[in-house]
Amino acid sequence: MGTIISLTLFQNRPQVVTTVYQYLVDAEKKFSANNDNSEIMRINQSAGIRPVSVSPAVFDLIKRAVMYSKKFPNSFNVAIGPLVKLWDIGFSGQRVPSATEIRQKLKAVAITGIELNESQLQVYLKYPGMAIDLGAIAKGYFADQIAFQLKRWGIKDAIIDLGGNVVTLGHNQLAKNSDWQIGIQDPKKTRGEILGKVQLPACSAVTSGIGERNFKVRDKFYHHIISPRTGYPVENDVAQVTIFSPSSIQGEVLATVAFFAGITAGQQLVKQTPNVAAIFVTRAGEIKLTSGLNFKKIA
Ligand code: FAD
Ligand code: MG
Repeated sequence: MGTIISLTLFQNRPQVVTTVYQYLVDAEKKFSANNDNSEIMRINQSAGIRPVSVSPAVFDLIKRAVMYSKKFPNSFNVAIGPLVKLWDIGFSGQRVPSATEIRQKLKAVAITGIELNESQLQVYLKYPGMAIDLGAIAKGYFADQIAFQLKRWGIKDAIIDLGGNVVTLGHNQLAKNSDWQIGIQDPKKTRGEILGKVQLPACSAVTSGIGERNFKVRDKFYHHIISPRTGYPVENDVAQVTIFSPSSIQGEVLATVAFFAGITAGQQLVKQTPNVAAIFVTRAGEIKLTSGLNFKKIA
């Protein structure tokens, strides 16, 4: 999935690690927008042609992603695929498209073009050129599924880290107060260099940011979070947002939506959402917290 994934357990349960690994290998095969044989690609290749039968998990995630896309029509959009592919940011084809190309692709991101048939488990993209992209939500869904399974297998304490999506379970056996410590990436530095850490009980922590998938052309900076209204990467004061929430799928969606909202409105949005907190980093490098977080900045 273009990242490093790790699972930390505090018991010797190698079979659990193997099963989670296999789950993720299988999930990547089904959900990838980069692999010609995935279920998502079959849906995309059949856009404007025919409905495609999918597995229950793929249907379930697309259904939820469509629901969120309708709820946040100007930001989170699961039909963003044509624009993601056009910019291809983070991949070998990345480039600044022409305004005409962008205008054309904007026609293909209407969420109303996704038709779901629940009884047949079929997904149909009604117009040619449409494409589903679950890049902003799939890892959150996988993290929640893994957390659920771990609990069923009697694993009480764990860290699931899907690269930008962390879920902690139970108690941190290495800390006196049993809280977990989560490092917050410094968006201006290489992966692993943190700007501070948060201490908190088990939860999900999801980060969306412009620090990794980006490129520059003649001093102009482009990144991978693309507006379904303009077709261009979102230009505002946010460099990165981390959402702390009970579920990781909720954290994923909120991270994207808060990113679009900008620092001030994004903080408001988080404050209005029960049981959620956030750390924003501005493009100028300032750190903005919503209340109730035990955060320590690294000097
Ligand atoms: P987030 O901020 O959570 O999401 C940003 C991503 O969401 C963008 O990269 C884009 O895909 C999509 N997006 C952009 N704008 C919007 C919008 N307005 N609304 C909704 N979504 C939007 N990376 C590789 O380099 N190679 C791979 O082979 C590869 N395979 C993958 C397979 C799977 C199943 C998944 C889930 C991811 C894979 N990735 C791969 C990573 C993927 O390309 C994204 O970069 C990654 O999912 C972004 O996650 P994030 O948490 O960094 O960003
Ligand atoms: Mg994400």
